[in-house]
Amino acid sequence: MFGTLESSAGRDIVSTIPSHGSRAREIVNSGSLLENVNRSFDAAAAFGDHPPGLLEQIKTCNSVYRFHFPVRKEGGGFEVIEAWRAEHSHHKLPVKGGIRFSPNVDAEEVQALAALMTYKCAIVDVPFGGAKGAIRIDPRKTNVEQLERITRRYAAELIKKNFIGPAIDVPAPDYGSGPREMAWIADTYVQFHPDEIDAIGCVTGKPVSQGGIRGRNEATGRGVLYGVREAFADADLVRKHGLTPGLAGKRVVVQGLGNVGHHAARFLEEAGAVLVGLAEYEGAIANPKGLDLGSVVRHRNETGRITGYPGAADLPSSAAALELDCDVLVPAALENVITPENAGRIRARCVAEAANGPTTADADEILRARGVLVIPDIYLNAGGVTVSYFEWLKNLSHVRFGRMGKRFEEVSAKGMVHAIELTTGKELSEADRGRLIRGPEEEDLVNSGLEETMATAFRQIRGVHAANPKIPDLRTAAFVSAIEKIAVSYMELGIFP
Ligand code: NAD
Repeated sequence: MFGTLESSAGRDIVSTIPSHGSRAREIVNSGSLLENVNRSFDAAAAFGDHPPGLLEQIKTCNSVYRFHFPVRKEGGGFEVIEAWRAEHSHHKLPVKGGIRFSPNVDAEEVQALAALMTYKCAIVDVPFGGAKGAIRIDPRKTNVEQLERITRRYAAELIKKNFIGPAIDVPAPDYGSGPREMAWIADTYVQFHPDEIDAIGCVTGKPVSQGGIRGRNEATGRGVLYGVREAFADADLVRKHGLTPGLAGKRVVVQGLGNVGHHAARFLEEAGAVLVGLAEYEGAIANPKGLDLGSVVRHRNETGRITGYPGAADLPSSAAALELDCDVLVPAALENVITPENAGRIRARCVAEAANGPTTADADEILRARGVLVIPDIYLNAGGVTVSYFEWLKNLSHVRFGRMGKRFEEVSAKGMVHAIELTTGKELSEADRGRLIRGPEEEDLVNSGLEETMATAFRQIRGVHAANPKIPDLRTAAFVSAIEKIAVSYMELGIFP
């Protein structure tokens, strides 16, 4: 109800939808997230020779649905909720992207995030167009019953306008939302489409019991590990930026301990990196000798604050963590946190963008001039959409990965081990035999597919970077790679020559 549907072929929708003072614009006059994304796009487009019309079509947000709906308040009366779904590119269907629950979100931010999804999917060869949704609420100040009413109503509004469906548009979690919200959306969709056999594939990031896939919850953070590991395995690349290869002993600061930040911190810690600083919205802590993530999280759960953690110093502000002396800074909270105002004071040699759009375009130039290696968001946080793709495939095939082949592989491996023992006359230990004959579980296959995807995409981006010495950084190389793939898609459709 009360919706505005804008459909475009080359129309500037931004100007038709009033914006509501996004955080992005408040922070510093360094451009909105959309302006920053489009600046990166334009910089990369200059390295190709695609016709301007094609580039405009790739860049433009194809449709935005903005709507309002009322929900009953706890103490009586009604609250009117504002929400959006932006479908940036229909060059591949379904389109895909998370739903943000935030009091600061606006139409322009949703479109910027949808555009990032298009480029991200292309970079990791996930066959989706980009989309993003948002509900303007503060989930921290909304009780669970109210949250469920709002989420289900949001889903119903999308259903009415055909902005959701396994073949059309498949949302997922983003900032402020998680598996619980995705389960409510799936359940609502199934109620409206009881005869649609693939209905459960209308959304990803669901709990495993509701058609989700093992490994999705950790996927973005795990992808961050794989991406950072690939970069640090590239000795030429990291040495150029004053770093040594390998992750062991690297000092890491993480901003935001939500889904992405918490898992990224955990996996980096397990890979041998040392967490020297952690930031949440209420404050930040640091210890150059290292912090134990599990114990910091327990402290925060018990006290409600990250600060006051024994064995670490409280920093004067949450943002101060960004300026700590470290090797790798992982912003994993929100966009536009590294701006021209603080870019000159960033001491990390590498910024690993786990969040979407944490570095403004102006700040990016400052970091580049200072020799900081930036691993860009459109590549680094693509682990979430990659495993969402696996979940969608699982939903469409109606079978758990590994179910058909696991036992067969085990039997074959057993035969092989037996033959080796007979030929060599040596018996393997129980532990070795168990390791060799174990068939893959769903999560093994998911993690392996994710690792392969992140490694392949990194090689492609580095290939583009190496092929043209004028391409200044990995972000531009990643955009060049994305534009090329999307352009081919349009050209093969015969839309553009
Ligand atoms: P989340 O809501 O689970 O976590 C965000 C965390 O950041 C919260 O703990 C919040 O308290 C904290 N935070 C907020 N403001 C902060 C500040 N100023 N300083 C420090 N911490 C702050 O969200 P998420 O899903 O982890 O998403 C984080 C970022 O990653 C977003 O930019 C999102 O778009 C991006 N992302 C998420 C996924 C995914 O699968 N969830 C995938 C790709 C990209």
